[in-house]
Amino acid sequence: MKISQKLYVRVALSIAVVALLVSFATSFFSYVSGLEEKRATNYSLVEQLAQTMQTTAAISAYLADVELGTEIMNGLLGNDLVKGVSLSGKPDMMIIQGEVRGEPEKISIKLMHPFIPGNQIGLLTLYPDDVYIQHQAQSASKKEVFLMMLHSFIIIFFVSIVVHQRLSRPLQKLTDEFAKIDPRMPQTMQMLGVKKGKKDEISRMIMGINSLMRELQLTINNERELRTKTQELETRFRLIFEQASAGICLINEENIITTYNPAFEAHFIEQGQTEIPSLNFPVLLNDVDKLPELLQVIRNKEDDVEQLTLDVEYTVGQKTKWIHCLFAKLTEQRDSVGKNQDILIEVIVHDVTERAEKEFQTRFEADHDALTQLFNRRAGERELKKALSDGIEKDNQLVLMMVDLDKFKPVNDNFGHDAGDKVLIEVGRRIKSRFGSTADICIRWGGDEFVIARQVDSFDRENFLSQAQDMLDGIEQPIQLNEEEVCHISASIGIVIGPQDGKVLEELMIHADQTMYQVKEHGRGHVAFFKKA
Ligand code: GH3
Ligand code: MG
Repeated sequence: MKISQKLYVRVALSIAVVALLVSFATSFFSYVSGLEEKRATNYSLVEQLAQTMQTTAAISAYLADVELGTEIMNGLLGNDLVKGVSLSGKPDMMIIQGEVRGEPEKISIKLMHPFIPGNQIGLLTLYPDDVYIQHQAQSASKKEVFLMMLHSFIIIFFVSIVVHQRLSRPLQKLTDEFAKIDPRMPQTMQMLGVKKGKKDEISRMIMGINSLMRELQLTINNERELRTKTQELETRFRLIFEQASAGICLINEENIITTYNPAFEAHFIEQGQTEIPSLNFPVLLNDVDKLPELLQVIRNKEDDVEQLTLDVEYTVGQKTKWIHCLFAKLTEQRDSVGKNQDILIEVIVHDVTERAEKEFQTRFEADHDALTQLFNRRAGERELKKALSDGIEKDNQLVLMMVDLDKFKPVNDNFGHDAGDKVLIEVGRRIKSRFGSTADICIRWGGDEFVIARQVDSFDRENFLSQAQDMLDGIEQPIQLNEEEVCHISASIGIVIGPQDGKVLEELMIHADQTMYQVKEHGRGHVAFFKKA
Protein backbone atom coordinates (compact mmCIF):
# COMPACT_ATOMS: atom_id res chain seq x y z
CA MET A 1 0.00 0.00 0.00
CA LYS A 2 1.39 3.32 -1.03
CA ILE A 3 0.79 6.17 1.34
CA SER A 4 0.58 9.60 -0.28
CA GLN A 5 3.80 11.65 -0.05
CA LYS A 6 1.82 14.80 0.66
CA LEU A 7 2.59 16.20 4.05
CA TYR A 8 -0.96 17.14 5.05
CA VAL A 9 -2.23 13.63 4.22
CA ARG A 10 0.56 12.16 6.31
CA VAL A 11 -0.05 14.59 9.20
CA ALA A 12 -3.82 13.93 9.09
CA LEU A 13 -3.27 10.19 8.95
CA SER A 14 -0.80 10.32 11.83
CA ILE A 15 -3.24 12.35 13.95
CA ALA A 16 -6.09 10.01 13.04
CA VAL A 17 -4.10 6.88 13.85
CA VAL A 18 -2.87 8.25 17.18
CA ALA A 19 -6.31 9.60 18.11
CA LEU A 20 -7.95 6.30 17.16
CA LEU A 21 -5.48 4.28 19.18
CA VAL A 22 -5.94 6.59 22.17
CA SER A 23 -9.72 6.52 21.86
CA PHE A 24 -9.74 2.71 21.47
CA ALA A 25 -7.55 2.33 24.51
CA THR A 26 -9.59 4.75 26.64
CA SER A 27 -12.85 3.20 25.38
CA PHE A 28 -11.63 -0.25 26.31
CA PHE A 29 -10.60 0.82 29.81
CA SER A 30 -13.77 2.81 30.24
CA TYR A 31 -15.86 -0.15 29.07
CA VAL A 32 -14.14 -2.58 31.42
CA SER A 33 -14.23 -0.27 34.44
CA GLY A 34 -17.78 1.02 33.56
CA LEU A 35 -19.10 -2.52 33.38
CA GLU A 36 -17.87 -3.37 36.85
CA GLU A 37 -19.12 -0.08 38.24
CA LYS A 38 -22.58 -0.55 36.74
CA ARG A 39 -22.84 -4.07 38.16
CA ALA A 40 -21.79 -2.87 41.60
CA THR A 41 -24.38 -0.06 41.41
CA ASN A 42 -27.14 -2.54 40.53
CA TYR A 43 -26.18 -4.83 43.36
CA SER A 44 -26.20 -1.97 45.80
CA LEU A 45 -29.64 -1.01 44.46
CA VAL A 46 -30.87 -4.56 45.21
CA GLU A 47 -29.36 -4.27 48.70
CA GLN A 48 -31.10 -0.93 49.26
CA LEU A 49 -34.34 -2.52 48.07
CA ALA A 50 -33.94 -5.34 50.59
CA GLN A 51 -33.23 -2.81 53.35
CA THR A 52 -36.42 -0.83 52.57
CA MET A 53 -38.37 -4.03 53.07
CA GLN A 54 -36.41 -5.12 56.15
CA THR A 55 -38.84 -3.79 58.81
CA THR A 56 -42.02 -5.02 57.05
CA ALA A 57 -40.42 -8.43 56.45
CA ALA A 58 -39.37 -8.57 60.15
CA ILE A 59 -43.02 -7.94 61.19
CA SER A 60 -44.29 -10.68 58.85
CA ALA A 61 -41.67 -13.02 60.29
CA TYR A 62 -42.62 -12.07 63.89
CA LEU A 63 -46.29 -12.58 63.19
CA ALA A 64 -45.51 -15.61 61.00
CA ASP A 65 -47.87 -13.97 58.55
CA VAL A 66 -47.34 -15.87 55.30
CA GLU A 67 -49.78 -13.70 53.43
CA LEU A 68 -47.95 -10.49 54.33
CA GLY A 69 -44.65 -12.16 53.61
CA THR A 70 -45.85 -13.27 50.17
CA GLU A 71 -47.07 -9.78 49.43
CA ILE A 72 -43.70 -8.25 50.40
CA MET A 73 -41.86 -10.75 48.24
CA ASN A 74 -44.12 -10.16 45.26
CA GLY A 75 -43.42 -6.45 45.65
CA LEU A 76 -39.69 -7.16 45.62
CA LEU A 77 -39.99 -9.45 42.58
CA GLY A 78 -41.73 -6.62 40.74
CA ASN A 79 -38.28 -5.06 40.40
CA ASP A 80 -36.44 -6.33 37.28
CA LEU A 81 -33.19 -6.53 39.23
CA VAL A 82 -34.56 -9.26 41.49
CA LYS A 83 -35.03 -12.75 40.23
CA GLY A 84 -35.94 -14.63 43.40
CA VAL A 85 -36.69 -13.97 47.10
CA SER A 86 -36.75 -16.23 50.16
CA LEU A 87 -38.09 -15.32 53.61
CA SER A 88 -37.55 -17.50 56.66
CA GLY A 89 -38.96 -16.98 60.13
CA LYS A 90 -39.74 -18.86 63.42
CA PRO A 91 -41.07 -21.36 63.80
CA ASP A 92 -40.61 -23.09 60.45
CA MET A 93 -41.83 -20.27 58.35
CA MET A 94 -40.23 -20.42 54.89
CA ILE A 95 -41.59 -18.63 51.84
CA ILE A 96 -39.84 -18.79 48.47
CA GLN A 97 -40.78 -16.71 45.41
CA GLY A 98 -39.13 -16.73 41.92
CA GLU A 99 -35.81 -18.43 41.06
CA VAL A 100 -33.54 -18.98 44.00
CA ARG A 101 -31.04 -21.52 42.76
CA GLY A 102 -27.82 -21.32 40.81
CA GLU A 103 -27.23 -17.72 41.78
CA PRO A 104 -23.76 -17.14 43.05
CA GLU A 105 -24.56 -13.64 44.35
CA LYS A 106 -27.31 -13.24 46.87
CA ILE A 107 -28.08 -10.51 49.36
CA SER A 108 -29.28 -11.64 52.80
CA ILE A 109 -30.64 -9.30 55.44
CA LYS A 110 -31.19 -10.34 59.02
CA LEU A 111 -34.73 -9.81 60.34
CA MET A 112 -34.69 -8.62 63.96
CA HIS A 113 -37.31 -8.91 66.76
CA PRO A 114 -39.44 -5.72 66.73
CA PHE A 115 -39.24 -5.37 70.52
CA ILE A 116 -36.20 -7.23 71.70
CA PRO A 117 -33.09 -5.59 70.20
CA GLY A 118 -30.38 -7.98 68.99
CA ASN A 119 -32.75 -10.95 68.68
CA GLN A 120 -32.82 -12.39 65.12
CA ILE A 121 -36.10 -13.86 64.15
CA GLY A 122 -35.64 -14.51 60.41
CA LEU A 123 -33.70 -13.95 57.22
CA LEU A 124 -34.70 -12.15 53.99
CA THR A 125 -32.62 -13.27 50.97
CA LEU A 126 -32.77 -11.52 47.58
CA TYR A 127 -31.41 -13.24 44.46
CA PRO A 128 -30.43 -10.53 41.91
CA ASP A 129 -31.09 -11.22 38.19
CA ASP A 130 -27.45 -11.41 37.15
CA VAL A 131 -28.19 -11.78 33.44
CA TYR A 132 -30.35 -8.68 33.51
CA ILE A 133 -27.81 -6.71 35.56
CA GLN A 134 -24.99 -7.77 33.22
CA HIS A 135 -27.02 -6.79 30.19
CA GLN A 136 -27.93 -3.43 31.74
CA ALA A 137 -24.32 -2.67 32.57
CA GLN A 138 -23.14 -3.69 29.09
CA SER A 139 -25.62 -1.58 27.23
CA ALA A 140 -24.84 1.47 29.43
CA SER A 141 -21.09 1.01 28.86
CA LYS A 142 -21.54 0.47 25.12
CA LYS A 143 -23.45 3.69 24.89
CA GLU A 144 -20.65 5.52 26.70
CA VAL A 145 -18.02 3.96 24.46
CA PHE A 146 -20.01 4.89 21.37
CA LEU A 147 -20.26 8.50 22.54
CA MET A 148 -16.58 8.60 23.33
CA MET A 149 -15.68 7.26 19.86
CA LEU A 150 -18.01 9.71 18.21
CA HIS A 151 -16.41 12.46 20.22
CA SER A 152 -12.94 11.28 19.14
CA PHE A 153 -13.91 11.13 15.46
CA ILE A 154 -15.33 14.63 15.59
CA ILE A 155 -12.12 15.89 17.23
CA ILE A 156 -9.98 14.01 14.65
CA PHE A 157 -11.98 15.50 11.86
CA PHE A 158 -11.72 19.06 13.14
CA VAL A 159 -8.07 18.73 14.11
CA SER A 160 -7.27 17.40 10.62
CA ILE A 161 -9.10 20.33 9.03
CA VAL A 162 -7.25 22.81 11.25
CA VAL A 163 -3.87 21.14 10.56
CA HIS A 164 -4.61 21.15 6.86
CA GLN A 165 -5.67 24.79 6.86
CA ARG A 166 -3.01 26.15 9.16
CA LEU A 167 -0.02 23.99 8.38
CA SER A 168 -0.33 21.69 5.42
CA ARG A 169 -1.96 24.12 3.02
CA PRO A 170 0.51 26.99 3.58
CA LEU A 171 3.37 24.47 3.34
CA GLN A 172 1.85 22.98 0.18
CA LYS A 173 1.52 26.47 -1.30
CA LEU A 174 5.09 27.28 -0.34
CA THR A 175 6.34 24.04 -1.87
CA ASP A 176 4.45 24.72 -5.13
CA GLU A 177 5.83 28.27 -5.34
CA PHE A 178 9.28 27.01 -4.49
CA ALA A 179 9.13 24.42 -7.28
CA LYS A 180 8.66 27.21 -9.82
CA ILE A 181 12.01 28.80 -8.87
CA ASP A 182 14.88 28.17 -11.25
CA PRO A 183 18.14 29.87 -10.22
CA ARG A 184 19.19 29.91 -13.89
CA MET A 185 16.20 32.15 -14.62
CA PRO A 186 16.20 35.02 -12.09
CA GLN A 187 12.74 36.15 -13.32
CA THR A 188 11.33 33.04 -11.63
CA MET A 189 12.84 34.10 -8.31
CA GLN A 190 9.86 36.19 -7.27
CA MET A 191 9.21 36.93 -3.65
CA LEU A 192 6.91 34.43 -1.97
CA GLY A 193 3.59 35.80 -0.69
CA VAL A 194 3.16 36.35 3.04
CA LYS A 195 0.25 37.97 4.91
CA LYS A 196 1.15 41.23 6.64
CA GLY A 197 1.46 41.08 10.39
CA LYS A 198 1.64 37.28 10.51
CA LYS A 199 4.42 36.15 12.77
CA ASP A 200 4.05 32.38 12.84
CA GLU A 201 6.89 30.00 11.95
CA ILE A 202 5.81 29.57 8.31
CA SER A 203 5.52 33.34 7.78
CA ARG A 204 8.94 33.82 9.37
CA MET A 205 10.34 31.06 7.19
CA ILE A 206 8.87 32.70 4.05
CA MET A 207 10.34 36.05 5.08
CA GLY A 208 13.69 34.34 5.63
CA ILE A 209 13.50 32.66 2.20
CA ASN A 210 12.54 36.01 0.62
CA SER A 211 15.53 37.83 2.06
CA LEU A 212 17.75 34.89 1.06
CA MET A 213 16.39 35.09 -2.50
CA ARG A 214 16.94 38.84 -2.57
CA GLU A 215 20.58 38.28 -1.64
CA LEU A 216 20.84 35.42 -4.11
CA GLN A 217 19.38 37.55 -6.89
CA LEU A 218 21.85 40.32 -6.11
CA THR A 219 24.74 37.87 -6.05
CA ILE A 220 23.63 36.26 -9.32
CA ASN A 221 23.29 39.66 -11.00
CA ASN A 222 26.70 40.77 -9.71
CA GLU A 223 28.22 37.51 -10.79
CA ARG A 224 26.71 37.86 -14.26
CA GLU A 225 28.03 41.38 -14.65
CA LEU A 226 31.40 40.22 -13.45
CA ARG A 227 31.40 37.29 -15.85
CA THR A 228 30.57 39.55 -18.78
CA LYS A 229 33.34 41.94 -17.79
CA THR A 230 35.78 39.08 -17.31
CA GLN A 231 34.87 37.66 -20.71
CA GLU A 232 35.40 41.04 -22.35
CA LEU A 233 38.73 41.43 -20.58
CA GLU A 234 39.74 37.91 -21.46
CA THR A 235 38.96 38.50 -25.12
CA ARG A 236 40.94 41.73 -25.05
CA PHE A 237 43.92 40.16 -23.30
CA ARG A 238 43.80 37.09 -25.49
CA LEU A 239 43.97 39.37 -28.49
CA ILE A 240 46.94 41.21 -27.00
CA PHE A 241 48.57 37.89 -26.10
CA GLU A 242 48.02 36.40 -29.52
CA GLN A 243 49.00 39.45 -31.52
CA ALA A 244 51.92 40.57 -29.38
CA SER A 245 55.18 40.93 -31.26
CA ALA A 246 57.09 39.65 -28.24
CA GLY A 247 57.08 35.94 -27.56
CA ILE A 248 55.29 35.18 -24.28
CA CYS A 249 55.09 31.91 -22.41
CA LEU A 250 54.25 30.65 -18.94
CA ILE A 251 56.29 27.95 -17.27
CA ASN A 252 55.31 25.87 -14.25
CA GLU A 253 57.28 24.49 -11.29
CA GLU A 254 58.69 21.68 -13.44
CA ASN A 255 59.91 24.23 -16.00
CA ILE A 256 57.31 22.99 -18.45
CA ILE A 257 55.74 25.50 -20.81
CA THR A 258 52.00 25.58 -20.13
CA THR A 259 50.96 28.40 -22.45
CA TYR A 260 52.63 30.28 -25.27
CA ASN A 261 51.64 32.75 -27.94
CA PRO A 262 52.23 32.57 -31.71
CA ALA A 263 55.20 34.99 -31.50
CA PHE A 264 56.89 32.68 -28.99
CA GLU A 265 56.25 29.69 -31.23
CA ALA A 266 57.77 31.54 -34.20
CA HIS A 267 61.12 31.81 -32.38
CA PHE A 268 61.53 28.07 -32.09
CA ILE A 269 59.84 26.63 -35.15
CA GLU A 270 61.93 25.51 -38.06
CA GLN A 271 60.56 25.75 -41.52
CA GLY A 272 58.21 22.86 -42.20
CA GLN A 273 57.57 22.18 -38.52
CA THR A 274 54.20 22.74 -36.95
CA GLU A 275 55.01 22.78 -33.25
CA ILE A 276 57.87 23.71 -30.99
CA PRO A 277 60.40 20.88 -30.46
CA SER A 278 60.03 20.66 -26.67
CA LEU A 279 57.76 22.04 -23.98
CA ASN A 280 60.55 21.74 -21.44
CA PHE A 281 61.90 25.28 -21.32
CA PRO A 282 65.60 24.57 -20.58
CA VAL A 283 65.59 21.76 -23.15
CA LEU A 284 64.00 24.05 -25.71
CA LEU A 285 66.85 26.50 -25.13
CA ASN A 286 69.46 23.73 -25.52
CA ASP A 287 69.71 23.20 -21.75
CA VAL A 288 71.31 26.44 -20.80
CA ASP A 289 73.38 25.75 -17.70
CA LYS A 290 72.24 28.81 -15.84
CA LEU A 291 68.57 28.49 -16.65
CA PRO A 292 67.20 26.02 -14.03
CA GLU A 293 69.18 27.80 -11.32
CA LEU A 294 67.92 31.20 -12.43
CA LEU A 295 64.31 30.02 -12.49
CA GLN A 296 64.75 28.66 -8.98
CA VAL A 297 66.00 32.03 -7.77
CA ILE A 298 62.85 33.68 -9.12
CA ARG A 299 60.62 31.06 -7.52
CA ASN A 300 62.39 31.23 -4.19
CA LYS A 301 60.00 33.10 -1.96
CA GLU A 302 62.70 34.33 0.39
CA ASP A 303 64.63 36.04 -2.39
CA ASP A 304 62.74 39.16 -3.29
CA VAL A 305 63.54 38.82 -6.95
CA GLU A 306 60.66 39.60 -9.24
CA GLN A 307 62.37 39.97 -12.58
CA LEU A 308 65.53 38.64 -14.12
CA THR A 309 66.91 38.84 -17.62
CA LEU A 310 69.14 36.52 -19.55
CA ASP A 311 70.47 36.53 -23.09
CA VAL A 312 70.41 33.00 -24.42
CA GLU A 313 72.05 31.49 -27.47
CA TYR A 314 70.20 28.60 -29.05
CA THR A 315 69.99 26.83 -32.35
CA VAL A 316 66.98 26.32 -34.54
CA GLY A 317 67.88 23.86 -37.26
CA GLN A 318 71.16 25.15 -38.63
CA LYS A 319 70.76 28.70 -37.40
CA THR A 320 72.21 30.07 -34.20
CA LYS A 321 70.01 32.68 -32.64
CA TRP A 322 70.09 34.93 -29.63
CA ILE A 323 67.09 35.81 -27.54
CA HIS A 324 66.70 38.21 -24.68
CA CYS A 325 64.51 36.62 -21.97
CA LEU A 326 62.74 38.57 -19.25
CA PHE A 327 61.60 36.27 -16.44
CA ALA A 328 58.93 37.42 -14.02
CA LYS A 329 57.06 35.68 -11.24
CA LEU A 330 53.34 36.12 -11.81
CA THR A 331 52.39 38.83 -9.30
CA GLU A 332 48.75 37.92 -8.93
CA GLN A 333 49.61 34.36 -8.07
CA ARG A 334 52.29 35.41 -5.68
CA ASP A 335 49.76 37.47 -3.73
CA SER A 336 46.99 34.91 -3.88
CA VAL A 337 45.87 33.06 -0.79
CA GLY A 338 46.64 29.59 -2.13
CA LYS A 339 50.18 29.27 -0.91
CA ASN A 340 50.57 25.75 -2.22
CA GLN A 341 49.74 26.88 -5.70
CA ASP A 342 52.34 26.41 -8.41
CA ILE A 343 54.39 29.50 -9.00
CA LEU A 344 54.13 30.30 -12.68
CA ILE A 345 56.88 32.23 -14.35
CA GLU A 346 56.14 34.47 -17.27
CA VAL A 347 58.85 34.70 -19.89
CA ILE A 348 58.90 37.49 -22.45
CA VAL A 349 61.20 36.72 -25.34
CA HIS A 350 62.74 39.12 -27.87
CA ASP A 351 64.93 38.13 -30.79
CA VAL A 352 68.27 39.89 -30.30
CA THR A 353 70.28 37.84 -32.80
CA GLU A 354 71.19 40.88 -34.90
CA ARG A 355 72.20 42.95 -31.92
CA ALA A 356 74.13 40.04 -30.37
CA GLU A 357 75.94 39.39 -33.64
CA LYS A 358 76.91 43.04 -33.86
CA GLU A 359 78.14 42.99 -30.29
CA PHE A 360 80.18 39.86 -30.99
CA GLN A 361 81.61 41.44 -34.06
CA THR A 362 82.53 44.61 -32.21
CA ARG A 363 84.05 42.65 -29.34
CA PHE A 364 85.91 40.38 -31.78
CA GLU A 365 87.22 43.33 -33.73
CA ALA A 366 88.36 45.01 -30.52
CA ASP A 367 90.34 41.95 -29.49
CA HIS A 368 91.59 40.64 -32.81
CA ASP A 369 93.96 41.68 -35.50
CA ALA A 370 92.06 42.61 -38.63
CA LEU A 371 94.57 40.97 -40.95
CA THR A 372 95.29 37.60 -39.36
CA GLN A 373 92.21 37.28 -37.08
CA LEU A 374 94.59 36.35 -34.24
CA PHE A 375 94.50 38.19 -30.89
CA ASN A 376 95.85 41.71 -31.19
CA ARG A 377 98.64 42.80 -28.88
CA ARG A 378 96.37 44.48 -26.29
CA ALA A 379 93.99 41.51 -25.96
CA GLY A 380 96.93 39.13 -26.27
CA GLU A 381 98.72 40.77 -23.35
CA ARG A 382 95.56 40.48 -21.25
CA GLU A 383 95.22 36.77 -22.12
CA LEU A 384 98.88 36.07 -21.43
CA LYS A 385 98.76 37.77 -18.03
CA LYS A 386 95.69 35.79 -17.13
CA ALA A 387 97.27 32.50 -18.28
CA LEU A 388 100.52 33.23 -16.42
CA SER A 389 98.89 34.04 -13.07
CA ASP A 390 96.45 31.17 -13.50
CA GLY A 391 99.36 28.82 -14.25
CA ILE A 392 101.23 30.00 -11.13
CA GLU A 393 98.11 29.41 -9.06
CA LYS A 394 97.62 25.91 -10.41
CA ASP A 395 101.33 25.10 -10.40
CA ASN A 396 101.24 24.84 -14.19
CA GLN A 397 103.70 26.25 -16.70
CA LEU A 398 103.19 28.68 -19.52
CA VAL A 399 105.21 27.87 -22.64
CA LEU A 400 105.59 31.04 -24.75
CA MET A 401 107.06 31.31 -28.27
CA MET A 402 108.15 34.54 -29.86
CA VAL A 403 108.05 34.15 -33.65
CA ASP A 404 109.57 36.79 -36.01
CA LEU A 405 109.60 36.29 -39.74
CA ASP A 406 113.04 36.37 -41.27
CA LYS A 407 113.75 39.07 -43.80
CA PHE A 408 110.15 40.00 -44.25
CA LYS A 409 110.90 43.52 -45.38
CA PRO A 410 112.23 42.31 -48.72
CA VAL A 411 108.91 40.46 -49.32
CA ASN A 412 107.18 43.81 -49.17
CA ASP A 413 109.87 45.37 -51.25
CA ASN A 414 109.90 42.69 -53.93
CA PHE A 415 106.22 41.71 -54.15
CA GLY A 416 104.44 44.71 -52.77
CA HIS A 417 102.67 45.45 -49.49
CA ASP A 418 99.56 43.45 -50.40
CA ALA A 419 101.64 40.41 -51.06
CA GLY A 420 103.31 41.01 -47.69
CA ASP A 421 99.85 41.08 -46.09
CA LYS A 422 98.98 37.82 -47.84
CA VAL A 423 102.11 36.25 -46.34
CA LEU A 424 101.19 37.50 -42.85
CA ILE A 425 97.65 36.09 -43.25
CA GLU A 426 98.95 32.72 -44.41
CA VAL A 427 101.52 32.53 -41.61
CA GLY A 428 98.75 33.32 -39.08
CA ARG A 429 96.60 30.56 -40.58
CA ARG A 430 99.47 28.03 -40.42
CA ILE A 431 100.19 28.94 -36.80
CA LYS A 432 96.50 28.58 -35.90
CA SER A 433 96.28 25.21 -37.67
CA ARG A 434 98.89 23.82 -35.25
CA PHE A 435 98.09 25.81 -32.11
CA GLY A 436 94.36 26.28 -32.53
CA SER A 437 93.01 24.56 -29.42
CA THR A 438 91.15 26.57 -26.80
CA ALA A 439 94.16 26.21 -24.48
CA ASP A 440 96.37 28.00 -27.04
CA ILE A 441 96.78 31.76 -27.24
CA CYS A 442 97.86 33.00 -30.69
CA ILE A 443 98.74 36.69 -30.97
CA ARG A 444 99.95 38.95 -33.72
CA TRP A 445 102.32 40.88 -31.54
CA GLY A 446 103.03 43.50 -34.18
CA GLY A 447 104.57 43.81 -37.73
CA ASP A 448 105.88 40.34 -38.59
CA GLU A 449 106.03 39.24 -34.97
CA PHE A 450 103.76 36.53 -33.49
CA VAL A 451 103.42 35.15 -29.96
CA ILE A 452 102.04 31.69 -29.21
CA ALA A 453 101.42 30.49 -25.66
CA ARG A 454 100.07 27.34 -24.03
CA GLN A 455 99.50 26.42 -20.40
CA VAL A 456 100.77 22.89 -19.55
CA ASP A 457 100.74 20.98 -16.28
CA SER A 458 104.07 19.27 -17.03
CA PHE A 459 106.43 20.68 -19.60
CA ASP A 460 108.01 18.18 -22.01
CA ARG A 461 110.88 20.03 -23.70
CA GLU A 462 111.48 17.54 -26.49
CA ASN A 463 107.85 17.22 -27.33
CA PHE A 464 107.36 20.98 -27.43
CA LEU A 465 110.52 21.46 -29.47
CA SER A 466 109.23 19.07 -32.09
CA GLN A 467 105.87 20.90 -32.13
CA ALA A 468 107.64 24.25 -32.62
CA GLN A 469 109.84 22.74 -35.29
CA ASP A 470 106.78 21.33 -37.02
CA MET A 471 105.21 24.79 -37.01
CA LEU A 472 108.41 26.33 -38.39
CA ASP A 473 108.41 23.72 -41.14
CA GLY A 474 104.84 24.71 -41.88
CA ILE A 475 105.73 28.41 -42.12
CA GLU A 476 108.61 27.59 -44.40
CA GLN A 477 106.35 25.89 -46.92
CA PRO A 478 106.06 28.03 -50.11
CA ILE A 479 103.31 30.61 -50.12
CA GLN A 480 101.46 31.16 -53.40
CA LEU A 481 101.13 34.92 -53.79
CA ASN A 482 99.35 34.84 -57.16
CA GLU A 483 99.21 32.60 -60.17
CA GLU A 484 102.83 33.13 -61.06
CA GLU A 485 104.59 34.19 -57.89
CA VAL A 486 105.54 32.05 -54.92
CA CYS A 487 107.21 33.30 -51.76
CA HIS A 488 109.45 31.44 -49.32
CA ILE A 489 109.73 32.68 -45.80
CA SER A 490 111.18 31.37 -42.57
CA ALA A 491 111.03 32.49 -38.96
CA SER A 492 113.17 32.73 -35.87
CA ILE A 493 111.59 31.33 -32.72
CA GLY A 494 112.56 31.98 -29.12
CA ILE A 495 110.88 29.92 -26.38
CA VAL A 496 110.50 30.81 -22.70
CA ILE A 497 108.79 28.95 -19.83
CA GLY A 498 106.82 30.86 -17.23
CA PRO A 499 107.23 31.33 -14.38
CA GLN A 500 110.81 30.02 -14.22
CA ASP A 501 112.00 32.34 -17.03
CA GLY A 502 109.94 35.26 -15.82
CA LYS A 503 107.37 35.66 -13.07
CA VAL A 504 105.72 38.62 -14.74
CA LEU A 505 104.82 38.97 -18.38
CA GLU A 506 107.15 41.88 -19.08
CA GLU A 507 110.14 39.87 -17.85
CA LEU A 508 109.03 36.80 -19.75
CA MET A 509 108.61 38.82 -22.94
CA ILE A 510 112.03 40.41 -22.63
CA HIS A 511 113.58 36.95 -22.31
CA ALA A 512 111.54 35.65 -25.26
CA ASP A 513 112.64 38.63 -27.34
CA GLN A 514 116.25 38.12 -26.36
CA THR A 515 116.09 34.42 -27.27
CA MET A 516 114.48 35.18 -30.62
CA TYR A 517 117.18 37.80 -31.43
CA GLN A 518 119.83 35.32 -30.51
CA VAL A 519 118.30 32.97 -33.11
CA LYS A 520 118.43 35.84 -35.63
CA GLU A 521 122.06 36.41 -34.78
CA HIS A 522 122.84 32.73 -35.17
CA GLY A 523 121.63 32.44 -38.74
CA ARG A 524 117.80 32.68 -38.37
CA GLY A 525 115.27 29.93 -39.26
CA HIS A 526 115.47 27.82 -36.13
CA VAL A 527 114.08 27.37 -32.63
CA ALA A 528 115.89 28.11 -29.34
CA PHE A 529 114.98 27.93 -25.64
CA PHE A 530 115.88 30.73 -23.27
CA LYS A 531 119.01 30.08 -21.28
CA LYS A 532 119.72 31.93 -18.10
CA ALA A 533 123.05 33.73 -18.23
P1 GH3 B 1 114.60 40.32 -39.69
O1 GH3 B 1 114.90 38.99 -40.25
O2 GH3 B 1 115.74 40.92 -39.00
O3 GH3 B 1 113.44 40.33 -38.87
O4 GH3 B 1 114.35 41.18 -40.94
P2 GH3 B 1 113.02 41.84 -41.33
O5 GH3 B 1 113.11 42.28 -42.73
O6 GH3 B 1 111.89 40.91 -41.13
O7 GH3 B 1 112.94 43.06 -40.47
P3 GH3 B 1 111.83 43.48 -39.36
O8 GH3 B 1 111.30 42.26 -38.73
O9 GH3 B 1 112.41 44.47 -38.45
O10 GH3 B 1 110.78 44.17 -40.27
C1 GH3 B 1 109.41 43.93 -40.21
C2 GH3 B 1 108.75 44.59 -41.36
O11 GH3 B 1 107.43 44.19 -41.55
C3 GH3 B 1 108.69 46.07 -41.29
C4 GH3 B 1 107.45 46.48 -42.02
O12 GH3 B 1 107.68 47.07 -43.26
C5 GH3 B 1 106.75 45.18 -42.25
N1 GH3 B 1 105.44 45.28 -41.85
C6 GH3 B 1 105.01 45.62 -40.61
N2 GH3 B 1 103.68 45.52 -40.56
C7 GH3 B 1 103.27 45.16 -41.78
C8 GH3 B 1 101.98 44.91 -42.34
O13 GH3 B 1 100.95 45.01 -41.70
N3 GH3 B 1 101.93 44.56 -43.64
C9 GH3 B 1 103.02 44.43 -44.40
N4 GH3 B 1 102.87 44.04 -45.64
N5 GH3 B 1 104.19 44.65 -43.88
C10 GH3 B 1 104.36 45.02 -42.63
MG1 MG C 1 111.25 40.16 -39.10
